Amino acid sequence: MTTLSLPVMDESAVAAPRSAILGTYKRAPLEIVGGRGVQLLGSDGRAYLDFSSGIGVNALGYGDAGIRQAIAAAADTGVLHSSNLYSTQPGEMLAQRLVDRSFASSVFFCNSGAEANEGAFKFARRWARTIGGPRKHEIVALRGGFHGRLFASLAATDRPGYRAPFRPLAPGISICERDLGDLEQLLDSDTVAAVIVEPVQGEGGVRVLDDALLQGLRALTREREIALIFDEVQCGLGRTGTLFAYEQSGVVPDMVTLAKPLAGGLPMGAVLLSDEIARTIQPGDHATTFGGGPFVTAVALHVFDRLSDEALLASVAENGKWIEAQLTALLAGTPRVRAVRGVGYMWGIDVVEPAAGVVARALDAGLLILSAGDYTLRLLPPLVASRDELQAGLSILEGVVA
Ligand SMILES: *Cc1c(COP(=O)(O)O)cnc(C)c1O
Repeated sequence: MTTLSLPVMDESAVAAPRSAILGTYKRAPLEIVGGRGVQLLGSDGRAYLDFSSGIGVNALGYGDAGIRQAIAAAADTGVLHSSNLYSTQPGEMLAQRLVDRSFASSVFFCNSGAEANEGAFKFARRWARTIGGPRKHEIVALRGGFHGRLFASLAATDRPGYRAPFRPLAPGISICERDLGDLEQLLDSDTVAAVIVEPVQGEGGVRVLDDALLQGLRALTREREIALIFDEVQCGLGRTGTLFAYEQSGVVPDMVTLAKPLAGGLPMGAVLLSDEIARTIQPGDHATTFGGGPFVTAVALHVFDRLSDEALLASVAENGKWIEAQLTALLAGTPRVRAVRGVGYMWGIDVVEPAAGVVARALDAGLLILSAGDYTLRLLPPLVASRDELQAGLSILEGVVA
């Protein structure tokens, strides 16, 4: 009989300190200790220009005076949480504001993007069952889409590597090509409850879906009584230069999901629902302990007012066109960039080497950027980034890409 012995670890050979946080992330060698404006401060004493915004969350940057005031005022009430058994003024006001600025008649609050999408799937099924019976329950998502990491949102997410280890995923959810002909085949009015799309696909490579595709999809789903859900968790709330991304294509969906920037960095999601769908939802159909509490909604109310400000949206749209011109010049200037895509403050850059290497070099050079797939860089600067700050970041980027 042989005995197995574990190799003895030489403590002095271990470079990085072991983290007690579960290893679901491969973290960059940077510890954040503070932030102001568009800059983050590392424990190494360096300032980093942040074109990642905490993955699209920090639309107003860091250390914003208005957010700090909203936080202080909300904390002064003494009630961070009161449960959804009672109503609170900040929750009611935020919902009303979202309704006033959109197609929706009602809002459901939750705590994240995945939760918002899972809620939207339930609302779609509840509505579809009401009009078409239990067979009408399928949910269709698009190639290249990302909708979250929970079982139903993962089933709608087109990332084989994210899905494979966790099968079986939630049933009744399938993925279709980004093609009207294929959609026309798949969208059976008797069995399909909803289609979910990101009008600008984020994680899947920053892909702005064609107006013609979205308009065709709207016509198909309307004709076949299928709910159209826009996942605007990443592209919504000003990022594309309009408050909602759906405004860009002129397509009005039946539900919109929101999250990332909604509460200025506090965890929050929302589902906006059309009157027709909202009318089929009964008490008990869905619930959340934390969703829409008075503290997060008070902060979100401030953030929403800032992000829906016409001057801010105009500046994102205008600077977005300028970013496009800069990136197009970069594309023309180096064979190391293969394509650029995007709108507003949301851009993808296909490069000829693994994106992770470029992201690491950018960090070394003082710029935080993201990837979106193995060969695509992604830029999501705070929406308050000025032309000068954008210019500074793009200069660093050019240096590390070329
Ligand atoms: C980030 C993201 C999600 C998931 O949001 P979480 O808050 O991480 O659950 C869903 N959809 C889109 C488009 C996203 O970008």
